[in-house]
Amino acid sequence: MVDVAGNLAAVRGRIELACARAGRDPSEVELLPVSKMHAASAIRDASAAGYRRFGENRPQALPSRAEELTDLDIELVAIGRVQTNKAKLIAQYAAELQSLDSLDLARALERRLDGLGRRLPVLVQVNTSGEDAKTGFAPEGTLAAVAEILVLEHLDVRGLMTMAANTDDSDAIRRAFRTLRALQTRLRDAHGDGFDTLSMGMSGDYELAVEEGSTCVRLGTTIFGTRPQRA
Ligand SMILES: *Cc1c(COP(=O)(O)O)cnc(C)c1O
Repeated sequence: MVDVAGNLAAVRGRIELACARAGRDPSEVELLPVSKMHAASAIRDASAAGYRRFGENRPQALPSRAEELTDLDIELVAIGRVQTNKAKLIAQYAAELQSLDSLDLARALERRLDGLGRRLPVLVQVNTSGEDAKTGFAPEGTLAAVAEILVLEHLDVRGLMTMAANTDDSDAIRRAFRTLRALQTRLRDAHGDGFDTLSMGMSGDYELAVEEGSTCVRLGTTIFGTRPQRA
């Protein structure tokens, strides 16, 4: 049995230590449990421990999650790749999308959200590591992309998201996080205040991310254990 509440408390403690090292206020850092592939009971455990928002990486999983958990006061946050033809699921079920990685997706979402009469908070995903396997806007193209997304009335750009390279090279990981933070500064220079959310840091690198300014760490394995494989 995985001790979800115990893991959450332990990780929260490590976030507080990382904040202390960086001279930051721990209340600025959200711990977003990533429940992908885990049973609904895992979400129930985290909900009982006081967590309300849960990261899911597959749009197709959102309707069944919502259905299984109607009795809980929780929100589902989409964090993974979204094909344009899944925009409707995001518009219907996601409280936020952290992985907005193309203008086509932004426009598809805008149409769906307009139809539903709702606005969606989004983070623009940036490929800070330059790895081909990762999606997101290139850092050089991010400002221009955000300018186009800001025109869309039903998308509310709250900040930026990235995934660092999966590597032991902590300098490379820090560089990726610093790139995201530098882009936030440039966005504020161009468009004014806001863009407050920097979603960066996963199980292997969240303490570095907090030291580098993360306001949202997305944690799966450290909270819920290794993921069951998809059947
Ligand atoms: C799976 C996933 C996570 C969590 O990964 P862990 O290493 O298990 O903490 C975070 N962000 C995204 C986008 C993911 O797909």
